[in-house]
Amino acid sequence: MLLPPPPPPPARALAPGISPGAGARAAGPELQGEAGRRERQGEEGEEEEDSRGRAGAMAEGAPRRAAGEAEAAASAAQEEPEGACARWGAQHAGARELAELYSPGKRLQEWISVILCFSLMSFNFYNLLFCLRPEHAFSIIVGIFAGVITADFVSGLVHWGADTWGSVDLPIVGKAFIRPFREHHIDPTAITRHDFIETNGDNCMLAVLPLANMAYKLVSLSPEALHQSCPWECYVFALAVFATLTNQIHKWSHTYFGLPRWVTFLQDCHIILPRKHHRIHHVSPHETYFCITTGWLNYPLEKIRFWRFLENIIQGLTGEKPRADDMKWAQKIK
Ligand SMILES: [Zn+2]
Ligand SMILES: [Zn+2]
Repeated sequence: MLLPPPPPPPARALAPGISPGAGARAAGPELQGEAGRRERQGEEGEEEEDSRGRAGAMAEGAPRRAAGEAEAAASAAQEEPEGACARWGAQHAGARELAELYSPGKRLQEWISVILCFSLMSFNFYNLLFCLRPEHAFSIIVGIFAGVITADFVSGLVHWGADTWGSVDLPIVGKAFIRPFREHHIDPTAITRHDFIETNGDNCMLAVLPLANMAYKLVSLSPEALHQSCPWECYVFALAVFATLTNQIHKWSHTYFGLPRWVTFLQDCHIILPRKHHRIHHVSPHETYFCITTGWLNYPLEKIRFWRFLENIIQGLTGEKPRADDMKWAQKIK
C-alpha cells in the first residue's frame, strides 16, 4: 500500500426516508473502526464481500448466469439493502427515469469522443517517445506523478461539482452530464452494466482538447524545443491518460466479480481507487471522498474540510443548497 488507510470521516445523519445502501453498511467498520483493526478487517471483509456476493447470486436461483449479470447481482447484493429495491438500485423510480434519459444523440457524442481521444492518445504517445532523454529522467518521473495527482484532484472537483450543484433539468448539460451522477447515487451498480463507450465517453471528451493541443505542439515545435518541454508534456500526458481512465477505474471500484488480477493488484496497492475506499463516498448524503482516480487526495482534502469550505462559499454567494437536486432524485420513489 502506498498510502495509509483513510481515517474515519465524521459520522453523518441520513436524510429522512433514505436508506444508506449496503455501501454505507459495508463502509460502517471503515467509518467507525480504528486504523489497525480496519487493516485486518479489510482482508476479512474482502472474503465476506465475495461470499455475500455469491449468496446474492445464488438466492436468485441462477447458478449459471452470464458473467455480467452475476457481476451486477453480486454488486447489487453489496449495495442494495434487502427488501428495499424500490428505494434503492435499478428498480428505484428515479433510477429508471434517469436511465431512460440516455439518448441516441448522447451515445453518438460518446462514440466520437472515444475515437478521437484514443487516436490522439496513441499519436501523442508514439511522438513523445522520441523526445525522451535520459538526463530528464527525474523531471519526467516527477511530471508523471504530478499528472496523476492532478487527475485525482480534477476527478474530485468535477465529481463534487456535478454531485453538489446543478440539476438534471438544466438545458443540455442536465440530461447529458449531471444525469449520470444522479443515477450513480441511487443505482450504484448501473455503472457495472455500462459498456466501454458509456463508461468512458464523457471523460474522453474532456481529454480531447488538451490532447489535440499536445499533438499540434509535437508536430510543430523544433526537436530542441521539444526536448526542453518534455517533462511538461509528460505531465500533461499522464494527466490526460488518468483523467480519461477515471470512470473505468471508478467502474472497477464497484465491480466484485471477474476483475482481472492486475486490476485487483493495482487496487490493493492503492495505485488506483480501491473498492473499500470508494464506499465511503457512497454513504448518504455523498458529501466527501469525491476523488475517484487514485483516491490519494481524499483523506487530506477531508482533513482540511476542503469541499465544505467550497460549498460554504458558493452557498453564501448564490443561496443554493448543496446536493438539493441529488436529494430530490433519491427521494423519488414513485
Ligand atoms: Zn458521487
Ligand atoms: Zn461510485
